[in-house]
Formats: sequence, C-alpha cells, structure tokens
Amino acid sequence: MKPLIVANWKMNPSSLAEAKKLFKAVKNTKAIICPPFVYLSALRVAGAQDCFWEDSGAYTGEVSPLMLKNMGVEYVIIGHSERRKYFKETNEIIEKKLKAALKIGLKPILCIDKISQIPPDIKRNLIIAYEPLFAIGTGKACSPERAKKMRLAIRKVVGSKTPILYGGSVNSQNARGYLAQAGFQGLLVGGASLKPKEFIDIIKKICYAE
Ligand code: PEP
Repeated sequence: MKPLIVANWKMNPSSLAEAKKLFKAVKNTKAIICPPFVYLSALRVAGAQDCFWEDSGAYTGEVSPLMLKNMGVEYVIIGHSERRKYFKETNEIIEKKLKAALKIGLKPILCIDKISQIPPDIKRNLIIAYEPLFAIGTGKACSPERAKKMRLAIRKVVGSKTPILYGGSVNSQNARGYLAQAGFQGLLVGGASLKPKEFIDIIKKICYAE
C-alpha cells in the first residue's frame, strides 16, 4: 500500500497568495494537504483540519462535515492535540465529530497520544495518527523504536485494516525510519509541510528509498 502523507498547515500561511504558492510547490506530491478552511475553495484540496458535529444550524463560526464533503474534501483531521489543548476538546466532543464525519462519508484522521482516546465502537473506521505530545512542533521527534511500540499497541486495538500514521517533528532525516523501522502506514507532517523543499524531500525519502 502507498504511504499516506498528510500535511497539516495549521493556521498558516497568512494570505491566499502565499497559500496558492505553497500549494503549487507541493501539489505533485499527491499528499493530503489540510489548509485552513478559508483556503479550501480556492485550492480544492482533499483535506481539512477539523469539522463540527452538526450538518447545519445556529453554530456561529463552525464548519460542518457536509460543507466539507460538498467542497470535495475527503479527509478530515479530528482531535488534534492543539484542539484538545486550546479549545478544550474532550474525547466526548471528538467522538461526536468523528461520527458526524463518518456519517457524511468523510475519512476522519483521529490524532491520539493515548490508546484510551480511540473510541471503541468506531475504531475500525478511522485513520489513526499517533502523535506523542512531546514531539508535536518541538523538533524532538519520537524514536522509531518507541513509536513502534505504540503502533503495535494501537494495531491490537484497531485491527489489521486501519491505517496508522506517525506525527511529531517529522523531517526529511527521520521520515523513513517511521515507515521502514517502525512500520507506520504514513505520516502526519506539520511544520515541515510549510517548507516545500523539505516536504518534497520527505516524500522522496519514503517513496523512492530502496
Ligand atoms: C502536527 O501538526 O500534527 C504535527 C505533527 O506537527 P509537527 O510536524 O510540526 O510536529
């Protein structure tokens, strides 16, 4: 199976012109690009960074799974640690979002750093991204050995078909280890996805290494 590479641009870049430039530089990689909502209609990408749990209604500021689906989005990141931290998203809220996304036919990418964050009843329908908190945006990536232990533990819970990604300070130097040594099916890349040369190098290391 081809590795699944997901680019989380977070709240970057700050103008549409920059977003178009960045997208143009990386679109041939076929990675799932997840830009801020405001750039979705211009870029027509396959990924988003979050969604609400209702399809429409009086929920000021929110974006629904149905809106994303109608925009051509296929994948949606849910439960990112930054949403848990800054927006106080709980496992309960995250589960509601996951179920709403699945109902509409989106593929949710659930970010976790603990096995207990995987909802038992929908665990086989998700893409899981293991993102150890200490590694997100810090430059302190998890060792492939340690990440592998967690991948194996997640695999026991979710069964054999669920893709499991690694995320946390991935760069072109460490990327290959998470697939070749640790056995992940792909990567969730934050900071490095904003640097086209580095991001393309990550993809090359993964896809073209022997
Ligand atoms: C992320 O945003 O999910 C992430 C892993 O970020 P970074 O690659 O910058 O650590």
